[in-house]
Amino acid sequence: MSQIEFKNVRHAYPPAKGQAPVYALKEVSQIWNDGGAYALLGPSGCGKTTLLNIISGLLTPSEGSILFDGSEVTRLPTAERHIAQVFQFPVVYDTMTVYDNLAFPLRNRGVAEARVTQRVTEIAEMLDLSDRLQQRAAGLTADGKQKISLGRGLVREDVNAILFDEPLTVIDPHLKWQLRSKLKELHQRIGMTMIYVTHDQVEALTFADKVVVMYDGGVVQVGTPVELFNRPKHTFVGYFIGSPGMNVLPCTLDQGQPVFANNRLDSGYAVASDLAGKLEIGIRPEFVSFSDDGIPVAIEKVEDLGRYQVVTVRHEAEQIKMVVGEDQAIPAQSPKISFAADNLLLYQDDWAVETEHA
Ligand code: ADP
Ligand code: MG
Repeated sequence: MSQIEFKNVRHAYPPAKGQAPVYALKEVSQIWNDGGAYALLGPSGCGKTTLLNIISGLLTPSEGSILFDGSEVTRLPTAERHIAQVFQFPVVYDTMTVYDNLAFPLRNRGVAEARVTQRVTEIAEMLDLSDRLQQRAAGLTADGKQKISLGRGLVREDVNAILFDEPLTVIDPHLKWQLRSKLKELHQRIGMTMIYVTHDQVEALTFADKVVVMYDGGVVQVGTPVELFNRPKHTFVGYFIGSPGMNVLPCTLDQGQPVFANNRLDSGYAVASDLAGKLEIGIRPEFVSFSDDGIPVAIEKVEDLGRYQVVTVRHEAEQIKMVVGEDQAIPAQSPKISFAADNLLLYQDDWAVETEHA
């Protein structure tokens, strides 16, 4: 088990002939704690797999270094890093039995057969594979095969970390939830460093203690689910996390207070009134409500989601989402909205302006 550190890691894949290299990872400097449960969350193409492969050694970064417990491993071969990696699609030996597939990583490293039996039995039980141990892997569904892949990652005891690259992509939705809880439970039991890549916020937020949000080749924020929800450091985090995501609206400043739609907004802010660049406010749909005074809007859509309603309103060019209680009436005449001052955030060129929130 290890602390994992990235020092100014950048990576460009070999460019097409005559083209300049494009950095898939622009610059990553991070320290991830030993024993943590991390999720790497971001949209497709933002560099998650690239970063994971740099940890396992499948890829050597173009620049920068990676350290395990303070020792440099940047050029160390995969086998010497003691990392288990589970890929998006199943990697199993079709001709072997389920048992032999699970035993393979242990036998390969000379673990005593008695211990192999113990581990395989334990892992198979956890993954509901116990009654299929003597079947050949070829006969299993995609679900079943991916469970074997997960098992092969989990079976070793000598690893520094286990990396999962969108491991539940091929898994049936009802099983997904179950497997994710099992991984979480396993993390709590064995305390191994786990890094879980996903583009699905629900997966990330339920699995991880710390979520690492990636965007366009960089890490934009590392935080607990609560921190990411309450204080997104970048507009992308606000928009990507939450359902619906945060409203990001253009604003100006008047004596250090944001102004949107000619309304000087109440906020816990006191910022320099001469901020330059693109200024925006961020307000989550949960903190927008109908009010007697405020910003006049037109109602575009009301979606009843059972315990709450998502209301889409518009002020001129700006669309705003609101979350309101299930039994709350939607005003029929001249609706107006206001924003909860304590939850109003300010962004300059997409980055949060540090402020003194009450
Ligand atoms: P993610 O896992 O977040 O979807 P990747 O790390 O796979 O993202 O990819 C990041 C960027 O690098 C993407 O723009 C992708 O097209 C590019 N890329 C990934 N693998 C290669 C490769 N082998 N050769 C060239 N470009 C690649
Ligand atoms: Mg990927």
